[in-house]
Amino acid sequence: MMPLLAIGFVLLHAMSILLLPGHAMAASYVFLVVAPLLACAFAVRRGLMMGLAPAQGWSLAALSMLLWTLGMASSLYQDLFLSNSNLAPGETMLLYILYGVPISYAVAIVGVESRSHIQRGIDAVLAALLGYLYFVLMFSWTTLQGVSSQQSAQMIAYMFDVENAFLAVMTTVRFFAADAPRQRHLFAAMASFTWLYGISSAYYNHHVALDISPNIGTLYDVMVDVPFLVFILMAWRMPSRIPLTLNPPLGLVRFVRIGSPLLLALSVLAIALLVLRQRFALGVAGVVIAVIGYGLRSILSQVRQIETADRLRSDHTMLAELALHDGLTGLLNRRAFEEAIGREWRQALRTQQAVSLLLIDVDMFKQYNDRYGHLAGDACLRDVAAILTQAVQRPMDLLARYGGEEFVLILPSTPLAGAKEVADRLCKLVRQLNLPHDDSPIQRITVSIGAASIVPTHDALPDALIASADRALYEAKRKGRNRFELAT
Ligand code: GH3
Ligand code: MG
Ligand code: MG
Repeated sequence: MMPLLAIGFVLLHAMSILLLPGHAMAASYVFLVVAPLLACAFAVRRGLMMGLAPAQGWSLAALSMLLWTLGMASSLYQDLFLSNSNLAPGETMLLYILYGVPISYAVAIVGVESRSHIQRGIDAVLAALLGYLYFVLMFSWTTLQGVSSQQSAQMIAYMFDVENAFLAVMTTVRFFAADAPRQRHLFAAMASFTWLYGISSAYYNHHVALDISPNIGTLYDVMVDVPFLVFILMAWRMPSRIPLTLNPPLGLVRFVRIGSPLLLALSVLAIALLVLRQRFALGVAGVVIAVIGYGLRSILSQVRQIETADRLRSDHTMLAELALHDGLTGLLNRRAFEEAIGREWRQALRTQQAVSLLLIDVDMFKQYNDRYGHLAGDACLRDVAAILTQAVQRPMDLLARYGGEEFVLILPSTPLAGAKEVADRLCKLVRQLNLPHDDSPIQRITVSIGAASIVPTHDALPDALIASADRALYEAKRKGRNRFELAT
């Protein structure tokens, strides 16, 4: 449906030129103003349908189309109302060339990175400067009335060619390096437009505008509709033949993402160099601002990158900490215990010294929870953990929460006699905490401990030590709790 309407538009334009010979110019102007105006409207519509970031790109496209429409309207005004048939009246030409500024800006900033306020400021200054330099350059060749020689008109046409070629190449690069479907859509529309517009306007400027007078009102005008109509079709809907995800190489994506902001500064630099000849001071200022602007901008993005890297590093450290600790008691967790027991086992295998292990289990804890509630149970576990931590004095000893209300203590280089002393001390300390427990035979919180000790051999695993301590713990429970047992 939409493609048919576009073809209809072109046919109607052609017919009105052919069928209204006396009014061909006025008729053609209507179409030439309506086409870009529609393009502007469709860009706005697409922007409104999109999320924030791509909408910015579509608004910039809409602004470009608006500037171009104003250029054409101004040309209409000159031709029909002022009867000024000069080839290149200044303000008209300026609007045509300024149309490239929002597209350059979009190429430089859309989907590039989140920009800080200062970076936005720099980009805005560069874009404004680019517009101003275009203005100065344009009025070095023409005046409000228009050009005084064919040669100046030719220079202006060349400038359009250069600008259009630049925009076409840049939007195409952005299209191929876009990794998000919405960005691909935006740059597909911009690239199709800039290529078609670049080609048709180059042909028109060099072979129609410079040769035929008055130039509006011939069949060549229809050619100018085409890029705008294609843009409208692209903005209307992404053609299904263009894949939404092309999976560009990651290297290209990164290169373009990081390099894009440079394009704005590069454009300023290029135009400033052209201005140098006519207005030396302004040209130098343009060059300096482009260089400083880009330099400052890169420094700022590097600062942000360093900040991000620092944050990631500290997040990583924090996560690694969290992964090895138990949230309730702050002790090392089961995973940290598994790692530690393997390490100590291998160490003891080398030194042939005994490793001891204590399994510490809170007595009748289910009843405690039932009577005092789960939160009190948690607090109790924290208290027990704290007293156990205090009691473990040697730096190489390792205390962990084994699970539920069970704790485990690894005692490297410690024979069973040493383990016995520690177990005895821990039982006493927990008793002395005096945490009331009405269901317990002695009315307070107690623990049972199973202790085991092994000099590792090559054919045994740490599991043997744990199983042994677990049997001893079972014995301690069986014999009445609030005590320790040594594995035999
Ligand atoms: P025993 O004297 O034989 O060790 O009996 P017990 O009741 O202590 O042992 P049992 O294994 O039957 O119950 C342990 C209870 O510990 C059950 C469970 O709800 C509780 N528990 C496990 N983890 C937590 C915890 O993080 N917080 C609290 N409040 N309770 C827990
Ligand atoms: Mg238990
Ligand atoms: Mg228990």
